Amino acid sequence: MINNKTIEKFRKIETPFYYYDLEVLRSTLEVVKKESDISGYKVHYAVKANSNARILKIISSYGFGADCVSFNEINAAITAGFNPSEIVFAGVGKTDKDINAALKADILCFNCESIPEIEVIDQLAANQGKTARIALRINPYIEAYTHKYITTGIEESKFGINTWEIEDVTKKLSDFKNIKLIGIHFHIGSQITRMSVFKSLCARINELQEWFSSHNILLEIVNVGGGLGIDYENPEKNPDFREYFSLLNEFIDLLPGQELHIEPGRSITGQCGSLISKVLFIKNGSNTLFAILDAGMTDLIRPALYQAHHKIENLTSTGNIYRYDVVGPVCESSDTFAKYIELPETSRGDIIAIRSAGAYGEAMASRYNLRDLPKSVFSDEI
Ligand SMILES: *Cc1c(COP(=O)(O)O)cnc(C)c1O
Repeated sequence: MINNKTIEKFRKIETPFYYYDLEVLRSTLEVVKKESDISGYKVHYAVKANSNARILKIISSYGFGADCVSFNEINAAITAGFNPSEIVFAGVGKTDKDINAALKADILCFNCESIPEIEVIDQLAANQGKTARIALRINPYIEAYTHKYITTGIEESKFGINTWEIEDVTKKLSDFKNIKLIGIHFHIGSQITRMSVFKSLCARINELQEWFSSHNILLEIVNVGGGLGIDYENPEKNPDFREYFSLLNEFIDLLPGQELHIEPGRSITGQCGSLISKVLFIKNGSNTLFAILDAGMTDLIRPALYQAHHKIENLTSTGNIYRYDVVGPVCESSDTFAKYIELPETSRGDIIAIRSAGAYGEAMASRYNLRDLPKSVFSDEI
């Protein structure tokens, strides 16, 4: 909770910075732990959502695995205490260097997206005298009803193996002496708020499972990926994890001995983070007032990149309500956090919180304009 005491402390810290409320993070992790223990499903946290070392350490302490998209992420996960045997490696373009390092680290599984990729992994595994465990990431052609830049499982997506290619892939697998197929993997998008989307995914997975069974291909793992959306209007509210887990439980037909894996990212860390910033200037526009912040798209790119909405609060004013365009200082017109939103009368020096910024915030920060990277501050440090 951001209360008056916290706000007084914020005044003394150089802005902008990410503020992580560890109580919120832990309460989210506890719900996910409880629901996954009940269902027996294995959680792999998607590290790309937030790879802050302290956050990773806390998440790993709950006994979860990790879903990584580069060897640097794998390395960060191992350093934070994740067990390599519970790390999976996803991504449509894995480099030889990353594959070699992941083979050395003996991770659980490569989630593979094409025959050329599997060929390379086979070759590199052979060079190391190892067998690489792989899962096939299959494109299930499910519309996720989210922003097009974070839709990943429709026909025109670059991700996953097309269903018409599965037979070909499985036939070729016997040629690959250093590959062991252990599962199938899916990930259809992010910030998915319609539960029915996951239900469609389950139905599609059941069909595919029948195909694999009828071809006598045993799969130990079914991985449904991540994508569970959060409520950007209610920053501290968790998504309905219970509904999500019970939906999977009801609609996926697992075969005896099969494990179900999930890869939540945003829904784990999104709620606990806020980007804290100061107002530099209020500037008159033709039709609007600009509140110019010291935080910009280099600190939080989601609004510029996918028109994402974040709740914005002025923590230090209780004045009359006016409308503002809240913008950053970066030399791009897309450096806008929100347009024409209501805020109490805002002036230079006011402290602004951009909420629900714990996922795809700090992790996507850049140094464009040679700006400093945002720092992170934890609730137990102030
Ligand atoms: C990004 C990603 C996730 C996490 O997605 P969220 O929407 O943050 O839950 C999970 N799996 C894969 C393969 C991903 O690329």
